[in-house]
Amino acid sequence: MTSATPPTAGNRLDPWFGAYAQRAHNMRASEVRALFAVVNRPEVVSLAGGMPNLAGLPLDAIADTIQRVIATQGLSALQYGSGQGHEALREQILDVMALEGISAHPDDVVVTTGSQQALDLVTRIFIDPGDVIVAEAPSYVGALGVFRSYEADVVHVPMDEHGLIPEALEATFARLAHEGRRVKLLYTIPTFHNPGGVTLSLERRPQILAIARRYGVLLVEDNPYGLLGFGQDPTPAIRSLDEDGVVYLGSFSKTFAPGFRVGWVVAPHAVREKLVLASESAILCPSNASQMAISAYLATSDWQGQIKAFQVMYRERRDAMVSSLAEHLPDASWTVPDGGFYTWVKLPPGLDSKSMLPRAVTGRVAYVPGTAFFADGTGADHMRLSYCYPTPERIREGVRRLASVVNAEREL
Ligand code: PMP
Repeated sequence: MTSATPPTAGNRLDPWFGAYAQRAHNMRASEVRALFAVVNRPEVVSLAGGMPNLAGLPLDAIADTIQRVIATQGLSALQYGSGQGHEALREQILDVMALEGISAHPDDVVVTTGSQQALDLVTRIFIDPGDVIVAEAPSYVGALGVFRSYEADVVHVPMDEHGLIPEALEATFARLAHEGRRVKLLYTIPTFHNPGGVTLSLERRPQILAIARRYGVLLVEDNPYGLLGFGQDPTPAIRSLDEDGVVYLGSFSKTFAPGFRVGWVVAPHAVREKLVLASESAILCPSNASQMAISAYLATSDWQGQIKAFQVMYRERRDAMVSSLAEHLPDASWTVPDGGFYTWVKLPPGLDSKSMLPRAVTGRVAYVPGTAFFADGTGADHMRLSYCYPTPERIREGVRRLASVVNAEREL
């Protein structure tokens, strides 16, 4: 009889430490996740997490919809399904994307378990260790985590109030080409950026696309917030300008509910085939029950009216956030988002958002330090403030508390 012997311990708390693959060593709890315990304490105003506020959803109607799905299509809802996703839902996803000017065929769509899985699949099929991904500075913490786990080398390109800067992108691509380094992906969140709160201007969209094309780089457009604008018509997605050079990621998490875990990818034909294979190997198929619930919701409810209600609610919260920042932190600066969940705050000189966080939590307010959003750990002079979840009153109270923490910090 043989007994398993733990490999050489490299960490006294985990006898299997020496057995992990390198990619597991590259996985880290995000700074957002480490905050979850704090977020749940009622006395803390959390401006940290990005949880959508679902209080306005018509729960009784949704319960009826799900009940009907099980009553009428229960055996297929509870069965395995297609690796590419439920066909009826893929067709409805086309209607959702049409609002942002995208035209596609249902076969172009791959349903995923949230767009987070789409990020994982895209990275899995393109990235070998050491490959370069170019991303905005700052960038979505969850994407950076995926990129790190696949050992990508993330190179950041700056944004301004109009989004990613074309000249800076061009210069970065040129420098990397000169160094003989192949850029595999350009990862961008063009609309209502997380955490930047800015939107890539209409003028820049074709420019960014043209630069990516010229350097032969596939553009990954991550767009979970695009329909959550505050007033204006939706901005046409980059994917509406190009079918072959863009992989587009969408999600129902922010426009409906993240609990179903349904997102999608639209990709050029050959890429899409690889994505389906990768997804089948990871999960066999996305949840039929979730997809059919969302499909029935889209077919029977005023989902566009619901999105409008979300826009109004988030706009009011954005207003509370930016007006209390102006009142209480006049020497900081921040982006004023036209949609989405976040504002990106630059602290007054000399302050460090990462080292200040424990004192902020003691002062009963939480945020995400800017360092979470840079692959190289810079960004301590910034923080991300989310206005999506708390009420306007709580947001105002949170910013008041934050200002007293900042003021105390200046006296340290
Ligand atoms: N991309 C961005 C930019 C996000 O902000 C999020 C969620 N915070 C995701 C992807 C993942 O969303 P989901 O998996 O819920 O669709």
